[in-house]
Amino acid sequence: MYVCGPTVYGLLHIGNARTFLIWDVFRRFLQQLGFEVQFVQNFTDIDDKIIARAHTEGVTPRELAEKYTQEYFTDMDALGVQRATEYPRATDTVPQMIEHIKGLIDKNLAYAVGGDVYFRVAGFSEYGKLSGRGGEDNEAGARVEVDLRKHDPADFALWKAAKQDEPFWESPWGPGRPGWHIECSAMVRRILGDTIDIHAGGKDLKFPHHENEIAQSEGLTGKPFARVWMHTGFLNMGSEKMSKSLGNIRTAREVIATFGAQPLRYFMLQTLYRSDLDFTEEAIRGAASGLAKWRENLARIEAASHAEREKDAPEAEVLEKSVTQGFEEALCQDFNTASALAHLHSMTNNLRRLTQEPQPLAYSLRPAVTRIRELAQTVLGLDLSPPAVEVSPLGDHSTALLEILIEARAAAKAQKNWSLADTIRDRLTGIQIRLIDQKDGTTAWEPINDVNQT
Ligand code: AMP
Ligand code: ZN
Repeated sequence: MYVCGPTVYGLLHIGNARTFLIWDVFRRFLQQLGFEVQFVQNFTDIDDKIIARAHTEGVTPRELAEKYTQEYFTDMDALGVQRATEYPRATDTVPQMIEHIKGLIDKNLAYAVGGDVYFRVAGFSEYGKLSGRGGEDNEAGARVEVDLRKHDPADFALWKAAKQDEPFWESPWGPGRPGWHIECSAMVRRILGDTIDIHAGGKDLKFPHHENEIAQSEGLTGKPFARVWMHTGFLNMGSEKMSKSLGNIRTAREVIATFGAQPLRYFMLQTLYRSDLDFTEEAIRGAASGLAKWRENLARIEAASHAEREKDAPEAEVLEKSVTQGFEEALCQDFNTASALAHLHSMTNNLRRLTQEPQPLAYSLRPAVTRIRELAQTVLGLDLSPPAVEVSPLGDHSTALLEILIEARAAAKAQKNWSLADTIRDRLTGIQIRLIDQKDGTTAWEPINDVNQT
C-alpha cells in the first residue's frame, strides 16, 4: 500500500492530518482482518515550495525538508498515527527516476527538449481512466503554465532543467531535478514493485497527480500499476478546502494542544473517509465530551457487571462476538468508520440497558466491554480505558453533580468571585477533571488523562 506523503515545507494542517489519519486506520483495519500490510509513504523533499521557503528562511532546501520531516513525525506521533513500514524520500530515489525516464524515452512516451523532459500524453491511450479527465484538462488547469517547448500542452514535465540557485542532479539531459509525478512512480517501483494493491491519497491528487503516475508507470512496465485507488475527502474550514494557499489553516500541532489528540481522532472518524468534513470547534468539543461520556459508560457497565459472574457463559460470548462482527461488517462496507463507531455505541447502549435489568444477570458483560475497548484501540486508535476518576458509588449522579459545580462556578464568576471560581476549577483538576472554558462559559469537561494520550 502506498500513500502520497507530505511536501515538507511547513507544519501539517489538520486537513493533511485527516488524510494521514484515515490511511493509518485503514491499514490498522487490514491488519485486524489478518493481512500483513507493507505500508509505504513518501516525503516530497524537493519541490518549488521547499526551495522558495528555504530561500526566505536562509537555510538549504535539504535542511528545511529535514526539519519539517521531523516535525511531521512529532505531530503524527502525537496523533497516534503508526509509523509506516518505510518512508522513502524523493531525493533518495533520483537514480531510479532517471532510469524510469530513460525507459519512457526509449518507448517513445517521453521526449527531451533542451534540458527538460516531458511525458507524451497522446502516446498513452488509457490516459484519463482514473479521473475521467483527459490531457486537455492539463491545458485549462491554472496550475499548468503554458510552455511553448512542449509538443502538446497536455504533456507534463518528468525532468526540469536546473535553474540558478536550485539544487540539481546530473542526468543524461544535463543538470536538473525530477518533476513531482515521476517521484511517486519511481518510489513505488523501487520499494513495492510494478504492481501494488492499494494506492491512496487526498482527492485533490486524483488529477493530475495520480493520473500521471498511472501513465508513467503503466507506460513503462505495461503492467497494472495499482489494483485499488482510494481518496480521502477534504477537511473544510468554512466550507472551503483547508489549504495553505487559501490561508484558512489550523495546524495539527495547535489543534492537538488545544483539544487533545483523542478528540481530534474521534471527530475525524465520525465521517466516512471519502466525504468532505467541516471542521468546527463546536464539533471537536462535542467529540471530546462524547468520548469522555463513552469511557464513563463503559466503566459503569464494567462496575455493574461483577467479575465473578460467569465470563464463559454463552450469552457473554454472543455479546462479545456481535461487537466484533458488526464492527468488521461496517468497515468492510466501504471502510465506513462512522457506522463502525455507531455499532460500538449501540453495543455500549445495549450493555448499559442490560445492567439496568431488575434481575441481576447470570453472566458477565465484561468480555464485551473489553472487546469494545480493544477494537477501538487497535483499529481506530481510540483509548476507551476507564477515566482516571473512579466511577462514583453515586452512579449516574456524578455527571449531574459535576454540572451543578459548573453552574455554581458560573454563578461565582457572574458575581466576580474569581477566587471561588478558580478554587472549583482547581479542585476539579485535582480529581482529574478539566473544564473547557469558552468565551460564553464552560461548555464541556473531560477527564485529564485523555489529553496527550494517543
Ligand atoms: P501536500 O503536502 O499538500 O502534498 O498534502 C499532503 C496530503 O494531504 C495529500 O494527500 C493531500 O491530498 C492531503 N490534503 C491536503 N489538504 C487537504 C484537506 N484540506 N483535506 C484532506 N486532505 C488534504
Ligand atoms: Zn504521489
